[in-house]
Amino acid sequence: MQRLHLLKPKSPAVFTFAFLALFIPASSLLASEIPGVSWRDLSDTDLSPEGKSALSFHGDLWKHAETEHFVYHFIDEKDAKTVYEHAEAYYQWIKNFLGVERDPWKKKSHIFVFSDKPAWQKFNQRVRGGFFEAGGFTNGWELFMFRESFWLAPEKVLAHELTHIILFRFLEGPIDLSLNEGFAEFVSFRQLAVQFDGDEYRLHVVAHIAKEQFIPLETLLTMRDTPADKVEIFYQESELLVRFMVLNFNKKSFYGFLREISRGEDFKRALRDVYNLEFEDLNEKFEVFAVTYR
Ligand SMILES: [Zn+2]
Repeated sequence: MQRLHLLKPKSPAVFTFAFLALFIPASSLLASEIPGVSWRDLSDTDLSPEGKSALSFHGDLWKHAETEHFVYHFIDEKDAKTVYEHAEAYYQWIKNFLGVERDPWKKKSHIFVFSDKPAWQKFNQRVRGGFFEAGGFTNGWELFMFRESFWLAPEKVLAHELTHIILFRFLEGPIDLSLNEGFAEFVSFRQLAVQFDGDEYRLHVVAHIAKEQFIPLETLLTMRDTPADKVEIFYQESELLVRFMVLNFNKKSFYGFLREISRGEDFKRALRDVYNLEFEDLNEKFEVFAVTYR
């Protein structure tokens, strides 16, 4: 199923964390060290219509590379370097964090890095019917980005978008938008982390949600699009929801919970099945957490 996730252009809130830095690039490669692979030697060339459309821009200028779980398409090695260096590390971290025992996918996730702004805009026009000033979007197993988006905030933005295509592999179908965006935010904030006592959960968050801005959980969970007038609160509250569930309940159960939902289970029923918790109970505790957490 195709679901487009917009990359929001800015971080919704200023968070400061001090905890264990978990993402360490495999190495610091020089631009020329991305080992190129010709199109016909790639182990996976199965693309969505959007993916095919992306490669129709720039003609033969696209270069390709691949690692264990990803195929990279790029025009300029310099622009692709950050993503090439980080993708597998994020993949492993998310897999370990969720306690995923087996990645059921043989297929690779594809990442397209555009270097040319007019081409990027035209591509957005063609596949999304408009240009939305977002630096990237995903459609399940593919991530499309313009280079600037991760030049500006490399770790945060990349981690957010990569989380979408990585989580997609570990689930069986779509999940609530707020859980999907909340988890991507939750993971990406780890990019802002610095080592602290070796305790990844000793978070110091300076932003909580003002009581009058709080979106009731019931409403948050029914949102199918980010609300235009509350984009920042939506992302922030979604992240807090994931954080609350992970901090307060067993994180491996969190994966079980996401899986139930991805199989079509209703949020409330999954909550009862996995956590033996009533929605009203979560609702009440979460609101207190969201408006007071610091
Ligand atoms: Zn997103």
